[in-house]
Amino acid sequence: MSFSIFSNNDPLAGQNAIVTGGSRGIGKAIALSLSSLGANVTIAYKSNKDNADQVLSEINNLSKGIAVQTDVNNLENVSNLISNAEKAFGTTTILINNAGITDDALIMRMKEEQWDSVINTNLKGTYNLTKSVLRSMMKEKYGRIINMTSVVAHIGNLGQANYSAAKAGIIGFTKSTAKEVATRGITVNAIAPGFVETDMTKNLSEEQKKIILESIPMRKYATTYNIASAVCYLASKEASYITGQTINIDGGLVMQ
Ligand code: NAP
Repeated sequence: MSFSIFSNNDPLAGQNAIVTGGSRGIGKAIALSLSSLGANVTIAYKSNKDNADQVLSEINNLSKGIAVQTDVNNLENVSNLISNAEKAFGTTTILINNAGITDDALIMRMKEEQWDSVINTNLKGTYNLTKSVLRSMMKEKYGRIINMTSVVAHIGNLGQANYSAAKAGIIGFTKSTAKEVATRGITVNAIAPGFVETDMTKNLSEEQKKIILESIPMRKYATTYNIASAVCYLASKEASYITGQTINIDGGLVMQ
């Protein structure tokens, strides 16, 4: 006997997803996973067109997709992204706020630009996208919003005051937004990965990697698909009674 958490084989058929930062790393795994479950997927990327085109061709083997160059900090870019997605597929029903950057420095040495760029991409970007899709989700009386935070929002990290503040802000933003739209069929949740093997973590020194691994009860990093599978569940109709939550996917690093 086979068992599936989903009520059919194409649980996201007819759904239209936007994945920011869909050209690499975690966002790429999310985009491909959503599309393998039948969703139409629009990926937003900042500058890396070759990567975005490669992901797009993989999406088009599974379902349908488009890629739109977008700086999530910029409201005009975000409006352009959403209107392109709507023109291609109709109302956006799934939003994955995944685009993020780090720019580390100890707080005593952190420049204002480092603070601003990290807060703007991670936190303001999440606000820009969410606000822009909510009106049509409200009309539709349906929506799934999933915001990418990090375990450092809970535990802090040396050299990441800007990033931890942005990611902690995303958790508060998730809860407040979830309360505002809870009666409208829209859920808003966050995922907090621990350490995932992507471009973002590839420059850690061997010494840093060793220290990190020793702090993870499972003694291994997450794969991008460990994160994407939880996103797919939260993006599905089956997750209709989960909202305002932050789910840690971290091999046991943070236990609350
Ligand atoms: P990544 O490999 O560095 O990829 C970042 C993605 O974000 C790329 O697609 C990039 O586009 C896009 N992006 C960056 N700035 C953007 C902007 N201003 N506008 C639009 N897109 C932008 O990152 P990742 O490791 O997959 O991380 C994805 C998310 O998970 C981030 O929010 C990150 O903070 C979070 N996270 C990651 C880890 C980890 O261990 N990797 C842990 C916890 C949380 P281009 O390709 O065009 O540059």
